[in-house]
Amino acid sequence: MDGINTKARPRKMTIPGNPPITIWDIRHRYPVNHRRTRSLSAIQQIAIHHDGVNFDAGDQDYDGSTVDEDLSRMDADYRSFARFNWYDMAYHMMVSPNGRAYYTRTSTLVGAHVKYHNTPTLGIAGMGDYRFHWPSGVMLFLYAGAAAVVRRGLWRKVPIRGHRDFTRQSTACPGEPTYRQWLPVVDLVLNWADGF
Ligand SMILES: [Zn+2]
Repeated sequence: MDGINTKARPRKMTIPGNPPITIWDIRHRYPVNHRRTRSLSAIQQIAIHHDGVNFDAGDQDYDGSTVDEDLSRMDADYRSFARFNWYDMAYHMMVSPNGRAYYTRTSTLVGAHVKYHNTPTLGIAGMGDYRFHWPSGVMLFLYAGAAAVVRRGLWRKVPIRGHRDFTRQSTACPGEPTYRQWLPVVDLVLNWADGF
């Protein structure tokens, strides 16, 4: 049993500021087995990821058009982390192709998304595989919006970096080679949206 609470629905939270940003809190859907904690002041950077797949079994036409599609996608991600023995939802936030940002793991719980760098790093993952094409326009805004929510919560302009730009990583994430083109766009929108 994977322990996912499949009855749990997202709770909408609107983060005040200019612009206001809505995120969907879904943390209560996913069991937490690893409770290594940190203070908010320990968070020094945001890692940008993709989850690396365009669709999962049972979700062949994935486009994120409904909340239930997003949920089944995140459930599949959670199960794959369990298979790798990473136990918990690895990322703190996830963004869908069709306009929703989800809060998936409490930011004061260390995640499992950038080996050797997890303690000072908060992970935001886009649903999809961006090695061969850019995320949609709305997803670029969502990556930035999710990161802006983090900055507003920390009251600090922590930088964003692509997963593979951390030391000692061997991964295409968040989509080598295209992310070198689109990550600066996310950063530009983030610097507008963080509200500082
Ligand atoms: Zn990654």
